[in-house]
Amino acid sequence: MNKQQNILIIGAGLCGSLLALRLGQLGYRVSVYEMRPDLRKVDISAGRSINLAFSDRGNKAMKLVGLEEKVKSLCIPMYGRMIHDEHGNTFQSNYSGREHEYINSISRGGLNALLLDEAEKHENVHIYFNRKCKSVDFEKTTALFEDNETKSQFIEDADVIIATDGAGSAMRKSYYLGKKFLFSFSQEYLTHGYKELTILPKENGDYKAFKNALHIWPRGSFMLIALPNLDGSFTVTLFLSYNEGEFNFNNLNTEEKVLEFFQKEFPDALAIMPNLIEDFFENPTAPLGTVKCSPWHYKGNTLLMGDAAHAIVPFYGQGMNASFEDVVVFDTILEKHKGDWETIFKEYEKTRKKDTDAIADLAIDNFHEMKDHVAHPIFQEKRKLEMALEKTFPNEYSSKYSLVTFNEDIGYREAMLRGRAQDKAILNLLNDKKIDLNDDLKIILNNVKKETEAILEDDRIAGLK
Ligand code: FAD
Repeated sequence: MNKQQNILIIGAGLCGSLLALRLGQLGYRVSVYEMRPDLRKVDISAGRSINLAFSDRGNKAMKLVGLEEKVKSLCIPMYGRMIHDEHGNTFQSNYSGREHEYINSISRGGLNALLLDEAEKHENVHIYFNRKCKSVDFEKTTALFEDNETKSQFIEDADVIIATDGAGSAMRKSYYLGKKFLFSFSQEYLTHGYKELTILPKENGDYKAFKNALHIWPRGSFMLIALPNLDGSFTVTLFLSYNEGEFNFNNLNTEEKVLEFFQKEFPDALAIMPNLIEDFFENPTAPLGTVKCSPWHYKGNTLLMGDAAHAIVPFYGQGMNASFEDVVVFDTILEKHKGDWETIFKEYEKTRKKDTDAIADLAIDNFHEMKDHVAHPIFQEKRKLEMALEKTFPNEYSSKYSLVTFNEDIGYREAMLRGRAQDKAILNLLNDKKIDLNDDLKIILNNVKKETEAILEDDRIAGLK
């Protein structure tokens, strides 16, 4: 019975197209409405995170829909962070001590196009482009759309509406403005924004920097990062305050100032970015924020998913991965309560929200870690130790980064609590000189475990767990 139900999805981005594919596979009748043109026909990606870090939680979703192998061909493995200091020295800090654990750089457009192609292979899935959702009547389960070309408006109804329309979700706005139920909503901007730039390939198509790493130029209060693309280029992102510090987005308003900034802070990057000025003044500067809200659903009628429910800052490389994991979690609950949408939505939010709240907080932590801490000796010592522990005891130790990124069998919240406790334990032990990098690793492991358990116990008593 439920398989014949009509499901309307708003937004054919990464989450919406994956959800359409999965629901299509399960036999639901799915209509997807996307406000932008079809990205397979028109280039619309400029300046908007052209590539992304794709990791195990996202890959679990690809396995669910049978796309793991196809997605692999879009991926460039990144084994660690390549740190560039002020003097142009580089050193690599791996993401994990286990060789099979690495993250990937993937093209947003390429991945989105693949998901759209696969979703459209199902005759029960229809995708309409250039249709912008203006509002949702969550009591009647209808949505108002505007055709971008003709400007005409029309209403669509469905048995269920799921909004995957990103951080600026129209349906979330309808929840908020509707004032029909208690809807909690918060949006917190960072003082920093971002701008995308490029390192083009060499004339022979080769990469101008080491291909298999995520490059970081940490400078304390700001940073530059670069991720490789399949065509030999890198997409570079500058994260910088809008108005604080000697250099900021507001005062980088002339070519001379931009060149002075890069010459002073990122000379080795500047040397391989002859197109810097053009990119800098052509590409937009965009804000970064965290959105939390609740409830995500209205009765059994409507549901928010992906960034529409939980937009996060990009510093853990988990926004897309979390949105894909949403679909995996939703799929399990869908199977359990077939057709009872209110129970499905309730259980989905109850299961999922604690984890998306956790990754939102972890992403803010990582902002500080990437722009600042990675350059500090104590942090580097801690990472070295963690690499050694993971390598020597692959089944006994996982760092916070590994728990979040590679351990898809535990939720983000559990990864956060254990990971933070471990971080604190190692730093305590290093600061108090209770462990030394030259000690026997088994002794270090036991000390770290003991200290971690003590911290977790304190957290439990304090009500954090
Ligand atoms: P979106 O991808 O934003 O898709 C929403 C879709 O809905 C879009 O196609 C949009 O056009 C459409 N839409 C919007 N409004 C309407 C409307 N009113 N009507 C109809 N359609 C509408 N995540 C990672 O996992 N790894 C990373 O490395 C990473 N890096 C990032 C870097 C930056 C700079 C940024 C900003 C984000 C990054 N993210 C990363 C996060 C990731 O981009 C998002 O979490 C992910 O795109 C969420 O997918 P989504 O489908 O929920 O939303």
